[in-house]
Amino acid sequence: MEKEFYNCEYCFKEFEPKRRRVQKFCSNTCRSKAHHAKKSSKELVAQNEQTVDTFEIEKQNISKVDKMSFAGVGNATAGSLAADGLKRVFTAPQNMPATKADIANMEAKLKRYHKVANLPPNQLGKTPYFDIETNEIVYSFFPL
Ligand SMILES: [Zn+2]
Repeated sequence: MEKEFYNCEYCFKEFEPKRRRVQKFCSNTCRSKAHHAKKSSKELVAQNEQTVDTFEIEKQNISKVDKMSFAGVGNATAGSLAADGLKRVFTAPQNMPATKADIANMEAKLKRYHKVANLPPNQLGKTPYFDIETNEIVYSFFPL
């Protein structure tokens, strides 16, 4: 009778089966390794499925929040919070109400006298300032 060879399903080596038809692996080692590999790949699949589930749940939560935000009627607090958030998102910087810092910054730029950086103090030791109303350099002992 001719010898029949199988290929191990784990290491793919040819082997002579002791039990024909039922033997898929060349050795017990390969059989158990294959078993573990199968098990861990199943676990991976399970993990992936769980990840998908979590993602689905997050997606549902997000759409729930969306619905709540735009309804405005159902939950007044959430509605106004969302509206405020949206206002911020959609309001261009130039249309935003000025903050105290903005105003202070603007006042600093719009003040009448500006210290001139590239002129030395005069003979009396006064500091030069540019007067934006008269377009003249003025000198002062005190910061203007
Ligand atoms: Zn093998």
